[in-house]
Amino acid sequence: MAAVRVAIAGSTGSIGTQTLEVVRAEHGVYEVVALGVGTAADAVVAQATELRPEVVVVADAGARARVAAELAAAGLGNIDVTDDHLALVEPADVVVNGVVGFAGLPVTVDTLRAGKRLALANKESLIAAGPVVQPLRAVPGAEIVPVDSEHCAIHQCLRASVDHAREVERVVLTASGGPFRGRTATELAEVTVDQALAHPTWSMGPKITVDSSTLMNKGLEVIEAHELFGTPYDRIEVVVHPQSIVHSMVEFTDGSTVAQLSLPDMRLPIGYALGHPHRIATPFGRIDWAQLSRLDFEPPDTATFRCLGLAYRAGRLGGSAPARLSAANEVAVEAFLAGRIRWNQIPDVCVAVLERHDGSVPTSIDEVVDADADARRVAHRALEELPT
Ligand code: MG
Repeated sequence: MAAVRVAIAGSTGSIGTQTLEVVRAEHGVYEVVALGVGTAADAVVAQATELRPEVVVVADAGARARVAAELAAAGLGNIDVTDDHLALVEPADVVVNGVVGFAGLPVTVDTLRAGKRLALANKESLIAAGPVVQPLRAVPGAEIVPVDSEHCAIHQCLRASVDHAREVERVVLTASGGPFRGRTATELAEVTVDQALAHPTWSMGPKITVDSSTLMNKGLEVIEAHELFGTPYDRIEVVVHPQSIVHSMVEFTDGSTVAQLSLPDMRLPIGYALGHPHRIATPFGRIDWAQLSRLDFEPPDTATFRCLGLAYRAGRLGGSAPARLSAANEVAVEAFLAGRIRWNQIPDVCVAVLERHDGSVPTSIDEVVDADADARRVAHRALEELPT
């Protein structure tokens, strides 16, 4: 059988490098035909030298020139080095979108428009551009297989039902609770960047790790679940599960709950999306039931972790509200990582931006981009006005 042709957007990031681990482990099954990065020249040159893709897409002009020069010097001048983001999708059977944040939107749109399978790790594109992305899922051949562990779990659980619209009673998203589970608002007033980046169970990039510490990640995942599976917000619940073994559950109308369990390792959802509808042959860890001994569940502390409620609010408002929330959060998290604001001011920035939501519904990519840009402007203004 011919190898499945894989393109990876964000190939040098956390999702990208873990995708390559899956590809290497499944030798011969997948062929990497395209790599995409923003600025990471050295890392993508090393990847291209190993993998010999057809094309390397580099967004930053300076980095692109360096990549082209170094590949040419290494005798790999036949690899096309370009800024054309469509060139990433064109040679692929499946596109992994591991770009961080709103910048992942073009990859999502291009892949679905081209009628290809999208292994989606970039939740922001679906959340911000839901009204624009949804119709593209009807393009023949277009398919989203979520790489987010919770949504990968729900995707698996839903295979237990043939009529989701009638048979799903509720979707239960699990949350590890992040590094600050059980802390009070007072205790959390002074947390540092290093503390927020020390996730107890998952290995992920810095943006999503901070989002996990505020529960914004879970909030965005509630919106993501609504967009992916069409589940009404009243039927999406969040439960804190500190062991990160149950990755989410679906309860059906007959009272039966189907859950997906595995060790917390992003290579499993990546492999699920690459292999879909089949299972890959490589296990990335297996559960030792004797060692596991217990699984705990508790309700989230929504008073201390305000971001979760904000996400439900934005999701129910609909239109451009999720785009605005996601953009505000990106600005706030960057400011936190740069030491400009405190951890507990991240939701303040989001509230300021959400309050300016005018009820508009984006009908084009340009309108989504405009909503994102406006939200970022408001967020930056809100940053200036925060008490220090
Ligand atoms: Mg997740």
